[in-house]
Amino acid sequence: MDLCNIHQIKELLARHGFRFSKSMGQNFLVAPWVPRRIAEEAGLDSGTGVLEVGPGVGCLTEQLALRAGKVLSIELDKTLKPVLEETLHGLDNVRLLFGDVLKFNLPELVRGHFSGLRPVVCANLPYNITSPVLTAFIEAGCFDTITVMIQREVARRICAMPGSDDYGSFTVYANWHTEPKILFDVSPGCFIPQPKVSSTVIRLKKRNSPPVPVGSEKMFFKVVRGAFSQRRKTLKNALASGLEGFDKERIEKAISACGLDPRVRGENLGIGEFAALTDALISLSP
Ligand code: SAM
Repeated sequence: MDLCNIHQIKELLARHGFRFSKSMGQNFLVAPWVPRRIAEEAGLDSGTGVLEVGPGVGCLTEQLALRAGKVLSIELDKTLKPVLEETLHGLDNVRLLFGDVLKFNLPELVRGHFSGLRPVVCANLPYNITSPVLTAFIEAGCFDTITVMIQREVARRICAMPGSDDYGSFTVYANWHTEPKILFDVSPGCFIPQPKVSSTVIRLKKRNSPPVPVGSEKMFFKVVRGAFSQRRKTLKNALASGLEGFDKERIEKAISACGLDPRVRGENLGIGEFAALTDALISLSP
């Protein structure tokens, strides 16, 4: 069966009484070049174990299974079970799990299923959970690469430059742990039903060490969150209200110790400047 053929998919889904759910972010790919290219960009071989989220009817799952050692695919919608059992029949290296990806212990799953394999993520994500699911993948710390299709707007936020409107604490978080790269755009016409937003495929490559050294990673992220807590304020004022335990005077001293303009805004600081500011604040701690 051609798992991207719109007529065949419609017939298959109707036969199983399937109805699309908006709340589960169900937009299935019907352009065969897209799952093929996503799988190609994921850098798979027989030594790779791929975690996929949301197989849908299995068009990307099939492409992953043709290239990787093993595919573990988690689907929330149990009504897709008989559909996937039909479409993935004969692909012996695919294992399906049903449940909410956000409720799984990902490192445990990887240890249990991908022994001896290089773990990666590859998926066309449900857009309603993009940020929490990406955070869970990064936080798990066990995936060498994360190749995913997400909303173009979120991809832009992840890859944004300091000073741009898209730049925020999620940009800093993603770039601290990974090296993100935009791969290609996909238009709404490549899906049924068509999503309201455009999509982009990105790859996040895990960093082996942070991009710059810092005295305390926990403090670094407190500073970043504080700096972005009120975007229109200066860094000094945002931190004075958004960073607990530091008065305005100490914040001012730290900002000037880093050679930054006292009127600078948080959204203009790069990762290195946030790290330097964190270290200055630590050294000024009582
Ligand atoms: N991979 C298919 C494709 O590319 O055509 C379907 C992708 S569709 C955008 C997202 C899929 O994720 C749907 O199959 C949906 O049921 C599933 N899903 C939604 N929320 C989920 C969750 N929390 N955990 C696991 N799967 C989820």
